[in-house]
Amino acid sequence: MPDGKRTIVILGAGFAGIAAYSRLRDRMDRATTRIVIVNRANHFLFSPLLHEVATGGLGIQNAVVSIRELIDRDCAEFIQASVTEVDTEQKRLVTDAGPVRYDHLVVATGATTDFLGVRGAAEHARVLKELGDARSLRERLIDLFEDAAARETTGRAEGHLGFVVVGGGPTGVELAAEMADLFHYTFRRFYRRFSAAEHASITLLHSGPRLLPQFHASLGSRALGVLKRAGVRVMLGARVAEVSAEGVALEDGTRIAARTVLWCAGVRAVVPQARPPLPTEASGRIAVDNFFRVRGVTDVWALGDCAAVADGHGASIPMRAQAAVVQGPAAADNILASMAGQPLALFSYRPKGDLVSLGRWQAVGDIAHVRWSGRFAWWLWRTVYLFNFPSWPKRLRIAIDWTVNLFHPRDLTKI
Ligand SMILES: Cc1cc2nc3c(=O)[nH]c(=O)nc-3n(C[C@H](O)[C@H](O)[C@H](O)COP(=O)(O)OP(=O)(O)OC[C@H]3O[C@@H](n4cnc5c(N)ncnc54)[C@H](O)[C@@H]3O)c2cc1C
Repeated sequence: MPDGKRTIVILGAGFAGIAAYSRLRDRMDRATTRIVIVNRANHFLFSPLLHEVATGGLGIQNAVVSIRELIDRDCAEFIQASVTEVDTEQKRLVTDAGPVRYDHLVVATGATTDFLGVRGAAEHARVLKELGDARSLRERLIDLFEDAAARETTGRAEGHLGFVVVGGGPTGVELAAEMADLFHYTFRRFYRRFSAAEHASITLLHSGPRLLPQFHASLGSRALGVLKRAGVRVMLGARVAEVSAEGVALEDGTRIAARTVLWCAGVRAVVPQARPPLPTEASGRIAVDNFFRVRGVTDVWALGDCAAVADGHGASIPMRAQAAVVQGPAAADNILASMAGQPLALFSYRPKGDLVSLGRWQAVGDIAHVRWSGRFAWWLWRTVYLFNFPSWPKRLRIAIDWTVNLFHPRDLTKI
């Protein structure tokens, strides 16, 4: 480098990348080392809040924070760019903003939607992964109801107000619950004459025998009960064969009319194109050793959703934000140890538990091996996510949005 400093480049400013950055910032020798963060968007996205943005519960800017606000300009630089290739021989990234040289590279590129080869899903289903997905879903919900109200028809047979959510894991369950809340507490109030909320249908399809398979069966049953009471039609053991503009067809031949299909059924690792290609496991995640080093590639480390980090019990660590944030500091410590010629530390993962929100006053969760549900779990969900949001000003704004929404319908303005 021109200033003689060694450069640690972090590719991907999501949960794992920002957690690694924070530890490096605190522990590295600033006289000899600097950090460069490269990310496609100029914000860090707090994806656990996306379903709230999509349903008007949270202002769009309150689920993100500027990366520049998160970094210390004295030791780090941010480049907004898309990386098109990692050249591990020349130790540089090829980006749409020019090349970026590295001494150590941290790959934290996350995951993307996997349509699991289902016919028509990529063309016709919507996803909830990026901020833009949440914004366009919110606009679509408002448009469909305004349109139905203007024509005074629900177009029920054609599924005009039919919504299908595919996937009974946490994302699908949270989204279906939040949509039901929006229909019940906001649309019902604003579309009285037309009564659109009564004519809309939300169907949640899950291929397995119970919702939330990663939780204890009792919590899946609890979630099922809450969703049913909220008016969501839940179909278990329902495998989608095809998605089209008219709705979905199941493998058993059942057809569900729906103009809006939301795909929350699968994710796969984002592995950046590299020369030579980065090694991957059968799961598609980057192959790493127990120290986060990409197998067979010098000075390249990988963590978070994109990497198959062993959990110490024969499986890979799940693709969860809470897993990504604990990998970040551990990987950062190993990078600094490797630069100092010191031994690396083995990483072992201990999950803290998980929470799933189920709309107003309802949630289920498993924290510290204790199962929670109902109002306390709901309060816990909000408190945990609020205090994990990495910006104090945004925490305040989120708290204000949440408080206002307890007493007032959600914001239906479309700009
Ligand atoms: C709707 C939704 C709800 C969720 N809810 C929860 C929850 O409640 N609890 C939980 O634990 N987990 C939850 N998750 C999962 C969680 O978001 C992920 O596990 C977590 O984001 C993984 O962190 P990461 O740093 O590996 O990847 P990400 O946070 O996805 O970050 C990857 C970053 O890399 C960038 N990037 C990728 N490729 C390139 C490139 N070529 N060039 C430049 N930049 C690139 C991306 O833009 C992104 O900023 C949820 C996910 C979704 C989608």
